[in-house]
Amino acid sequence: MTLNERVAIIRENIARESQPWGKPPKIIAVTKYSQPEEILPLVDCGITDIGENRVQAIREKLPFINEKFSIHLIGRLQTNKVKYIIKDVCLIHSLDSISLAQEIDRQAQKHAIRMPVLLQVNIAREMQKGGVMEEELMPFLRDCAKLPGLEVKGLMAIMPLGAERETLFSLFTRMRGLFDQCAQEAIDGVSMEELSMGMSQDYDLAARAGATMIRVGSALFR
Ligand SMILES: *Cc1c(COP(=O)(O)O)cnc(C)c1O
Repeated sequence: MTLNERVAIIRENIARESQPWGKPPKIIAVTKYSQPEEILPLVDCGITDIGENRVQAIREKLPFINEKFSIHLIGRLQTNKVKYIIKDVCLIHSLDSISLAQEIDRQAQKHAIRMPVLLQVNIAREMQKGGVMEEELMPFLRDCAKLPGLEVKGLMAIMPLGAERETLFSLFTRMRGLFDQCAQEAIDGVSMEELSMGMSQDYDLAARAGATMIRVGSALFR
């Protein structure tokens, strides 16, 4: 199968599954295992957004891919590395601590920008995963909303590896519930627009549950 065909299949699947929501989620092509020569053909498939999980990888690939894609940081971000990517990424998906929020705020203000971020939720309460617990989300959202250098745009979640599809769907649905709840709070300076969830194995379920962004790697580059 060609890259174009793989993209077409994903598009078909999300169009079908997201029908009740009126709009399919945006595809973020996760390029963490791919080199620039594999990444660039995505342009011809109409993919505009790519996701990387490491700061170092973004730095290395940037000269080859810059201005062709909007780059999303989807992995864990260390406070001391914010300064290396703040100007180059369009959205940080993995904000999950107030110290990280403060550093993003500080760096954003230094560059006179507002940095778009998503708050990561540890929806399955996994020990080893990043993200805030559900019950911490609302206070964390309120704290982030007070930082002028941050533009909180929504929520993100990473699902447990190897979970049953039924379990995954209920977790996705729970995330959508949290997202809607946050939107209803209508907090000043917060615009709840994006819900980033679903990867190669389960993006169809995420689309059905109301994701606005899916992050797909291996289904594209396998
Ligand atoms: C690697 C990764 C993905 C994509 O995973 P695939 O299973 O290859 O689609 C999505 N989100 C995050 C945070 C990742 O690290």
